[in-house]
Amino acid sequence: MPLATEVMDKQTSILILGAGTFGLSTAYHLAKAGYTNVTVLEKSPTFPPELSAGNDLNKILRAEYEDPFYAELALEAMAAWKSPLFAPYYHETGYLLCNSSAAPEKSKKSLQKSLNSIQNRPAFRGKITPVISREDIRRVAPVFDGPMQWKGYFNSFAGYASAADAMTAVYSACTALGVTIHLDSAVKTLTYSKGEVCAGAVTTSGKHYSASTTILALGASLGSILPQIKRQVIPRASPVAHIQLTTEEAAKLRGIPVTYARDLGFFFEPDRRTNLLKICPAMAGYTNYNTSSGLSLPAEDNAFIPARDEKTIRRLLRETLPALADRPLIDRHICWCADTADSEYVIDFVPGKKRLAVVTGDSAHAFKMLPIVGKWVKDVLEKGQQENKRWRWKEGNDAEVDVSWRVGKSTDFRDVKEIRRDSDVVRAKL
Ligand SMILES: Cc1cc2nc3c(=O)[nH]c(=O)nc-3n(C[C@H](O)[C@H](O)[C@H](O)COP(=O)(O)OP(=O)(O)OC[C@H]3O[C@@H](n4cnc5c(N)ncnc54)[C@H](O)[C@@H]3O)c2cc1C
Repeated sequence: MPLATEVMDKQTSILILGAGTFGLSTAYHLAKAGYTNVTVLEKSPTFPPELSAGNDLNKILRAEYEDPFYAELALEAMAAWKSPLFAPYYHETGYLLCNSSAAPEKSKKSLQKSLNSIQNRPAFRGKITPVISREDIRRVAPVFDGPMQWKGYFNSFAGYASAADAMTAVYSACTALGVTIHLDSAVKTLTYSKGEVCAGAVTTSGKHYSASTTILALGASLGSILPQIKRQVIPRASPVAHIQLTTEEAAKLRGIPVTYARDLGFFFEPDRRTNLLKICPAMAGYTNYNTSSGLSLPAEDNAFIPARDEKTIRRLLRETLPALADRPLIDRHICWCADTADSEYVIDFVPGKKRLAVVTGDSAHAFKMLPIVGKWVKDVLEKGQQENKRWRWKEGNDAEVDVSWRVGKSTDFRDVKEIRRDSDVVRAKL
């Protein structure tokens, strides 16, 4: 970390590795605060980056959390989503959060804690409606005609972000503010002077970028550059799939709330440009320990989903929109996040090193923080330390933790017997 007496001057060179949700937001907040020498290196040749967890049609924006600390932060983020840069990408369709009749007790408890975190806050007065029957669901989503023996609530102060579009807007805002973003620049290694002072990074093409401060924002790939993160951050993947709707079908679903049965999965209003309906199954995430380093890391092939998740997706559709339950799924892929045992983010300097910081541990709940997370990173850099204990570097341990809000158990891809790919459909048609 910088010496406590050092003040960061606005011309200091800052290198951010990774142009995903955390890296972009960090670049934006630094540039907005007047830092004039901010450079970002991103592996992907195109933007939004192919491997970024944020590069998605849509993400849920909601303030309820099991932990009131994050509920408070999410409320701050929701306000920022209404600011001019972000507002075009925020759609306040509401959020239907329920459990099916088959949900495990753990899932019911998690939903109740989420509700507790918001129901007494003034921002939610008149915004929350209990759901105890199919009729209650049809009042907020009349087009749903499945059996839906669900219980939960509807929160009208929530919705979703057009995620990839919002990232593109932040990218443009960064470049307009003078940030240099190099795409197709995969970082191979960090460089050090005097053994411990981080001096920048070298890309796989051999180009060296030097900087006074380097920030690692590599999402699930962080362990490949900073293996010492391995005991506190475990990369896990989640499946995503889509159904291509016709214009007429999409029009019928226009304005539906983000619909989440905690034990089955969630889906969104169809994308307004492409008419794609995005669906994610409920599950506890997949690791990939089949790597040369022995760490769980994203693999090159992400264009598939496990067969059991496809079944869960079809169950969710049978419950809500049965006419779509047997339709072909397309753009099936897995999306990688960096999980911590306690779902806390890690925003801190790297112990034993100088001028090297990390922003990681998104734990699959950080896209909503896109408008504000970079401010927290900037504060840490300027203060020379992380004052919030929750987000400090923790050594962690190797124990597998049962994350309270996840349904089921994490599985390694080596134990997945059957997968589904879009090309299976193509082959079937030939
Ligand atoms: C299926 C799914 C659904 C989700 N839904 C929600 C939701 O509804 N609401 C919500 O708030 N959050 C959601 N999330 C979580 C959210 O997407 C993540 O928390 C967030 O995007 C993580 O940001 P990040 O910057 O840490 O990682 P990323 O966005 O993945 O960014 C990491 C970047 O580093 C780059 N990179 C990797 N290696 C290198 C290298 N060697 N050199 C240079 N660059 C490199 C990658 O290309 C990538 O651009 C979801 C995640 C998934 C997977």
